Parts: sequence; C-alpha cells; structure tokens
Amino acid sequence: MKAADRSRARAKLVAWFGEHARALPWRQTSDPYAIWISEVMLQQTRVETVLRYYDRFLARFPTVRALADASEDDVLSMWSGLGYYRRARLLHEGVKAVVARHGGRVPEDAEARRALPGVGRYTAGAIGSIAFDRPEPIVDGNVARVLSRLDVIEHAIGTPASEKALWAEASAWAAHDAPGTVNQALMELGATVCTPTSPRCDACPLRAWCGARRADRVDELPVPRVKKAPKEVSVVALVARDRAGHALLVKHEANDEGGLFGGDLFKGLWSVPMQEGEGRGVARELAELHGAALDLAEPRQVIHVLTHRRLRVLVHQGRIAKARGTGRLVDPDALDGLGVATLTKKVLASAR
Ligand code: SF4
Repeated sequence: MKAADRSRARAKLVAWFGEHARALPWRQTSDPYAIWISEVMLQQTRVETVLRYYDRFLARFPTVRALADASEDDVLSMWSGLGYYRRARLLHEGVKAVVARHGGRVPEDAEARRALPGVGRYTAGAIGSIAFDRPEPIVDGNVARVLSRLDVIEHAIGTPASEKALWAEASAWAAHDAPGTVNQALMELGATVCTPTSPRCDACPLRAWCGARRADRVDELPVPRVKKAPKEVSVVALVARDRAGHALLVKHEANDEGGLFGGDLFKGLWSVPMQEGEGRGVARELAELHGAALDLAEPRQVIHVLTHRRLRVLVHQGRIAKARGTGRLVDPDALDGLGVATLTKKVLASAR
C-alpha cells in the first residue's frame, strides 16, 4: 500500500478501534509484564478461554518477581487447562531472566527483550508497542489475514516470502505515533470483522483500500499453508489406584532420548505413567516399572489431538500399594494444586 493511503487508512482504523474495541482486561493496562502474560496466553488460544485464566494468573503472580520466585509446579498448575505448556515454561524462564539481567524490570530496549527466553518477534513487538509505545510491528494470524487481503499478498502463509512481506507491511503500519493502538486495532479487525470465513467487508473501516475486495478475491486470501496430516502415535497409559482410589502420577522430566515422553512436550507436568507403543506387553512393563499389578480388564481408548500428532491412548488399569521414587498417589478429584496436562485428565476420566 502506498504511504499516503496507509496514513488515511490508519486514521480510519484507529477511529474504528476507539468505537468498537472489546473491553478486554489486558487492554486496561500498560504494565509490560501483564501484557506479556496476555500475549503468551493468547498464542494459539481463544480469547474466551484466556479470559478465564488471565486475572487468576495475575492475582497469583502479580509481578515479574512473584512469577520468577514461584516453583515450576505452581506455574504449571495455574496454567493447567490452557495447553501448550511449553509456553508457560518459557515464560517462567523469561521472567527469571528479567530478574537476573534487568533487576526485575521488563526491558524497554527491543534487543534486550528479544534476547529473553521465549520472547520471539511477535511477543517482543506486542510488549514494545503496547506497553512502551515503540513503533514495533506485530504479525499474528489476525494481522496476517488483514494485511494479506489488503495488499493481495499471494505467498502462502508461513513461507519466508510471505513472512518478509507481512513484517515489512506491519512495520510500515506501526511507524506511527500510537503504534500500540494501531497494532491492537489490526488484530481486533482480524478477530471481529476480517474473519477467516464470511468477513464483514461492508462494516470494515479499510474497505476503500482493500485490494482483495476490489479484485473480488477475499475468499482466496490469505493463501493457506499446506498442512501435513498429524502423525498417528499409539500410547499405553496405566491408571494404577490404591485402596483409597488415589491414582499414581509421575512427573515428566525431559531426557536425552527424545520421543513423545522424553522430549519437552510434557516436561514438568504430572501424568499417569504412559509410554509410546501398544499391546498388553507394554502395559505389563509399565506396571512392573512402577510396582503395580495390572488388571485383566480390556483397555479403554482415548483419542487426543495435539498440533502435529494424534494420540491413540489405550488406558489400562491396575492396583498399587504405594508410589515409588518421585511418584505420588493423588485423588483424581483434587488435581488443582498440580500441573496436570489435559491428556491425563482425559485418561483418568476414561478409567472411572
Ligand atoms: S474489506 Fe473485507 S477483506 Fe478487506 S480488510 Fe476489510 S474485511 Fe478484510
């Protein structure tokens, strides 16, 4: 888009945002820490879901220092249900680095922000523009859709060519005296008007400048990334209970072996014993490893879909007298104080 057009379009967009912005709690603050929390939560998670977690998380960890001093178990338990736990672990590492390197103050300098664990270009730009009013761009899925349509960007989303074009255009939009407002307005437009299907072009403040609308190509843009089918993975889970009905949970530590349970996908989370594989032999091995006796009942099946994997989990049951090593026997109805992944909750529910 030409600079003069962009300037007029930006003014229209900002006026529209002033009138139509949803009153979201993270829009009522300029605290860089609170904005950081909201942006991390919002990655790959719907606003409605984040609304249930954001205030609670900030009430428990109101400052960078409070979060940095918390145990990983506490952080993951407050995150429990939001999914993508790697985000929470990286956020935790990030705030610890803010304490160690910057005395607990989120750095205003863009380079210093980008150097924090877990802070990529998007999160750094969100904190920079919204909290510090710096002309830093952000490109999330919503912004990518709006800009792809406005400028008729033909490269498939996620390719280097599309990334380059989108970040360049977003930088031009953010080069303004209220970059945080402009960035949030672009995201809001993508979330509420320029939606993936059935965008409301008639209600759009940018319709006069929209190349896709002019060319009648709104439905074709943005060009989607070619998705790989998720990989099927077979998993055996063991729900071993004691006489009180408490189930054995173990904590996942990342190890060097990689794989689903050896990598960092579930690192730091509590779960029932699980192992990749299938068949009763695997279940017997799991039971032996944890000192449990396997029941003869047929296993139940739980399907759990992650971003790149579809897990087919066969849930075996067993009995156990006491937990070994770092395992714990936990009441399945009282998991609140523990960081427990949704998969384990589904497995426990299936074995009731
Ligand atoms: S006119 Fe339609 S396609 Fe173009 S930016 Fe607005 S809502 Fe999106």
